[in-house]
Amino acid sequence: MTKTATAVLEIINPATGRVVDRLQADDSASVRAKYVAARAAQPEWTTVPLRERSEAIRRFREKLVEHAEELAQTLTTEMGKPVAQARNELKGVLGRIDFFLEEAPRALQAEVVFSEGGEGDCPLTERITHEPLGVVANISAWNYPYFVGSNVFIPALLTGNAVLYKPSEFAALTGLAIARLLHDSGIPREILTPVIGGGPAGAALLRQPVDGVFFTGSYATGKKIARTVAGRMIKVQLELGGKDPTYVAEDIGDVARAAAALAEGAFYNTGQSCCSVERIYVHERIYAAFVDAFLREVKAYRIGDPRDEGTFIGPLTRAAQLAVLEGQVADAVRKGARLLCGGKRRKGRGNYFEPTVLVDVNHRMAVMREESFGPIIGIMPVTDDDEAVALMNDTPYGLTAGVYARSQKRAEAILARVRSGSSYWNCCDRVSPRLPWSGHGHSGMGLTLSRAGISTFTRPRAWHLKAPAL
Ligand code: NAD
Repeated sequence: MTKTATAVLEIINPATGRVVDRLQADDSASVRAKYVAARAAQPEWTTVPLRERSEAIRRFREKLVEHAEELAQTLTTEMGKPVAQARNELKGVLGRIDFFLEEAPRALQAEVVFSEGGEGDCPLTERITHEPLGVVANISAWNYPYFVGSNVFIPALLTGNAVLYKPSEFAALTGLAIARLLHDSGIPREILTPVIGGGPAGAALLRQPVDGVFFTGSYATGKKIARTVAGRMIKVQLELGGKDPTYVAEDIGDVARAAAALAEGAFYNTGQSCCSVERIYVHERIYAAFVDAFLREVKAYRIGDPRDEGTFIGPLTRAAQLAVLEGQVADAVRKGARLLCGGKRRKGRGNYFEPTVLVDVNHRMAVMREESFGPIIGIMPVTDDDEAVALMNDTPYGLTAGVYARSQKRAEAILARVRSGSSYWNCCDRVSPRLPWSGHGHSGMGLTLSRAGISTFTRPRAWHLKAPAL
């Protein structure tokens, strides 16, 4: 948790409420100076061969491995992620870096798409090359700072851009550590420059004439950003929130296994994942068995000090979210929901909210319609696939959706009718570097990951080349 006051950013441990560090936040003048330096340095970075840029990123990967434990501890201290999950994130980011390193040459490869030579006296060639956008702003979220950050700055750097990287104010120490390791790996300081602070630092960054804005965060901030840069005709990508649904069909077979997987998908990272399972619809024939198994699973989760190996649920990163969750529980209970466990903050220090399971829920309740971003879930019975599809689509978001069912054909038929960027059959809360990551509606626009998520940091140039007549 963090607090900004007169350009000082306080880093507060969400498990204890104690200030662990104070950082100088950027202001308009320092952001401007960083932008000017990035703009001046970027043309030379473009001329550095891809092989050398890749070498620097490879060294960065090695440094992440070398310093993994201290980086995991930093992440746990400033955002409360249980340390085992912080280590998992640091391991997981390596595969993403490997993917970008492997695919960047293909994404940047110039291509001759037409060549008419032959006997004619003026042979014509058509070619496509890929140029960097220039100087891009990367405004990032705190919940997976290694994942959401590297989805942007790694391909942006590999493709020859300069990046002004604003980590979230709730993961600023991690952002500074990332910048330091990139610099130590050979990325010039002006080519990857951290911008420190909260909303005002982000707003100052947006006042610079950057060539692209790559944002990860909430719909509310994403909308503000889209408004701010509208009219500039620059690339804007917004990776926003979700209210991700899963439907469990009656033929799933092993109900307990599905319940365990979905409980983990809902509560991992203390429910603070953009692709956390946020609502579950269960066929009425297996509903009772599913709820029993789900509840057993959740009651076994260890909530506590995020530094402990065995902790599964840590504190919420932002204290303000405690009131949002309390509000969702109160609203649901007032409208007839039953609380099976949790529903309140834990007494004592830290931003702890007890893992919460609600049943007898419906779509008049905020908990089934608005992003919770915490350890809370509503489970609702449905009579058939059509009802499940209608409820899954009853949201302005569209990030991920899943179906647990025996038949792949049935699951794919259901998922094809649900608006979402990612579709899961018998799995959930999963991101792959090989697949595009994107959302519909309030979940955003543009994409990261996959080869397209590298190309998105480039501008294609069309070459029409006609040899002179002899
Ligand atoms: P947020 O919108 O509060 O903040 C995101 C970033 O925007 C931060 O760096 C913040 O300092 C900055 N910011 C705030 N106001 C700004 C302004 N006026 N101008 C410029 N920058 C500004 O979101 P958050 O709390 O950091 O992250 C949680 C949200 O992010 C959730 O909704 C979650 O679902 C979403 N998220 C989405 C994805 C995805 O891939 N779709 C991934 C992770 C998180």
